[in-house]
Amino acid sequence: MKKKIVVARNAGFCFGVKRAIRLAFETAEKRGEEEIFTLGQIIHNPQVVEQLKEMGVRMVCDVDEVRCGTLIIRTHGITKGEMDALSERDLKIVDATCPFVKKAKEHALTLAREGYVLLIVGDREHPEVKSIISYVEDLTEVITEFDRIGSTKRKRKAGVIAQTTQSQETLEKWVKKALSHFQEVRVYNTICSATSVRQRETVDLARRSDAVVIIGGRNSANTRRLVELASRENGRVYHIERVEEVDSLDLSEAETIGVSAGASTPDWLIEEVIRKIRDSVEKGRGEVVVDTMR
Ligand code: SF4
Repeated sequence: MKKKIVVARNAGFCFGVKRAIRLAFETAEKRGEEEIFTLGQIIHNPQVVEQLKEMGVRMVCDVDEVRCGTLIIRTHGITKGEMDALSERDLKIVDATCPFVKKAKEHALTLAREGYVLLIVGDREHPEVKSIISYVEDLTEVITEFDRIGSTKRKRKAGVIAQTTQSQETLEKWVKKALSHFQEVRVYNTICSATSVRQRETVDLARRSDAVVIIGGRNSANTRRLVELASRENGRVYHIERVEEVDSLDLSEAETIGVSAGASTPDWLIEEVIRKIRDSVEKGRGEVVVDTMR
């Protein structure tokens, strides 16, 4: 059987992650005696974190672990409390917060300063949402649970923003409910198009493939979301993090194999996975063509 591997056009690093990785590697290359840290993983990809570790970039979990040297802030940003604490120390900050995440925070601040109740469509425990809340919680009431939209006593005006990785569908559901409770609703669509494009493509790929391989960290929320969406369309979806995992996949019956990847998956890993799938098909004396999704 001649097999086809179809790769999603936008698989892998998004703009914000590419920028963060470039800043992290540039900082590591220029490293002198000083120590370099990232607060949490710079991206949810164990191989990239390992490469940076080999170049002397240490990951810490708490700002209190960093007293001097250079700190690289990751794409999701950090809280106001963390930023205030860091600014009092002898530290160089490399801010790799994604500009789209910063934009969402700016809109939240505008709404809060103008007296809007702030509705944030997102996960309260996600670092991106935590960061936004920390900047506005002293200025206005913040609602992050859909069921609480109608519970506030302030009924005049509400502003809505979304965590950058939310779906359009969820944002629209929130806006609809907000309109039934507030006299005025101002909406900033802060969903990042990189996320929605990748999700749409993966759904499409899952529909036209016999099996789908999605590459990305198991702790990467956007990769897990791709797996979830693809699984609704296709009964054979595999989530892998490392190239060695290809050996455990059952792709024998699949004529068309779709390959997609989360926003924090490097190109070299995608290429290695494709090569490994191709090699295993050829070893079984099969033929395979690799194509990009059209
Ligand atoms: S998914 Fe969008 S918002 Fe998130 S880091 Fe990438 S470009 Fe930025």
